[in-house]
Amino acid sequence: MGGFFGVAAANDCVADLYYGTDYHSHLGTMRGGLAVVDRNGFRRSIHDISNTQFRSKFEDELARLRGRLGIGVISDYEDQPVLIGSHHGRYAIVTVGKLDNLEELVAAALERRGVHFSEMSGSEPNPTEVVAHLIDQGDTIEEGIERAQEAIQGSCSILLLTEDAVYAARDRLGRTPIALGSKPGAHAATLETCALPNLGYQVMDYLGPGEIVRLTADGVERLRPPGDRLQICGFLWVYYGYPASSYEGINVEVVRYRCGASLAGRDDVEVDLVAGIPDSGTGHAIGYANAAGIPYSRPFVKYTPTWPRSFMPQDQRVRDLVARMKLIPIREIISGKRLLFCEDSIVRGTQLKDIIQRIFEHGALEVHMRPACPPLVFGCKFLNFSRSKSELDLAARKSIQEMEGDRPTDLGSYADPDSDPYCRMVERTRERLGLNSLRYQRLEDLIAAIGLPRESVCTYCWNGVER
Ligand code: SF4
Repeated sequence: MGGFFGVAAANDCVADLYYGTDYHSHLGTMRGGLAVVDRNGFRRSIHDISNTQFRSKFEDELARLRGRLGIGVISDYEDQPVLIGSHHGRYAIVTVGKLDNLEELVAAALERRGVHFSEMSGSEPNPTEVVAHLIDQGDTIEEGIERAQEAIQGSCSILLLTEDAVYAARDRLGRTPIALGSKPGAHAATLETCALPNLGYQVMDYLGPGEIVRLTADGVERLRPPGDRLQICGFLWVYYGYPASSYEGINVEVVRYRCGASLAGRDDVEVDLVAGIPDSGTGHAIGYANAAGIPYSRPFVKYTPTWPRSFMPQDQRVRDLVARMKLIPIREIISGKRLLFCEDSIVRGTQLKDIIQRIFEHGALEVHMRPACPPLVFGCKFLNFSRSKSELDLAARKSIQEMEGDRPTDLGSYADPDSDPYCRMVERTRERLGLNSLRYQRLEDLIAAIGLPRESVCTYCWNGVER
């Protein structure tokens, strides 16, 4: 998915930028990038972070990066920041989201003489460069951003660095969040609010959908008011988001406790202990255990000294191997027990199947799974959420395919937890994973745990409803 951090300060901002960007490392695996500007112009650095953490790649360069304004990005796909020279002057830009109509946007642009895009390896244009091209169609930066947001299908939140300010623009329907932070002499824009407190910032505001602001050391100027339609990604609270972060003022860890509590409230299974699949299942499991009055335990521990990252390498076989190596089972806790696990979600289910098998190999009597969100039936169109090329990789879709073949008649019926197709789909998935029981969160319980009005939360990947 990716994340970003921008800062405008009265004094050098590089330390804040470096650590603020690093606090987004859980959101992407491919590239890290920083851009700063001072009276000598722009300086930019981009590194491959697929095998090494962001901080270790950039720390040797910090002395070279000087400036009072800067933007940084953790990118799951393209090289960023992109440096642009246009009629807006020079600027650097980073984006988070997904241009679902990238090909159409590029084809339309290339019809005009003199337009060209550099290509990344694999001969695809860099989506952030395409966004910059759209912005350059406007008379001003804010007008260009508005035009870009109108043209983009999918979602695109933007930080843009000029010689005198940082612009922050949230995507049109607010699928990804942007928060503003402030401290004496500095203002910051961030996707994750967990980047703020250790750098001395207080959360000042949350941008609304489509809102555009301009940050300087002295203040924040609103250039475009928020729109009235919000479709923030519900999956942020379930899985992506860092526990210490809040979106729309709602903390991730607190929502996970509520998710676990609502799972427990509907459950009647008898077990000896509750556990989370590390890391993002942990909060849900604590919520379940506290509400059910069942001991919380750690039958698996994660080997964090050398496997600190939550995302995985690109190659699926290597990812599966890494997932296995990270988690170490503890026989003394597992053997002879009935275990209930909370998981954020079941995406493909292949790693989960391996985990379940290992739990039984270590002597478990029963294994029950409680995902904190409903089955994922539809692939996300709005964010680069999964590397899977096909919706059919989803565990729920695999079950549907087993039942109905390649052309299911009514996918929507699988979103209704009281329907017969839903129950059969869940039973198929349970069997394939080798579980004693599998019960997913109901969508209305998830929405209640988040606490926003239902119409303000994107739920497309669960029910296929696009608002
Ligand atoms: S489809 Fe799912 S993952 Fe994508 S934005 Fe909507 S809730 Fe988030």
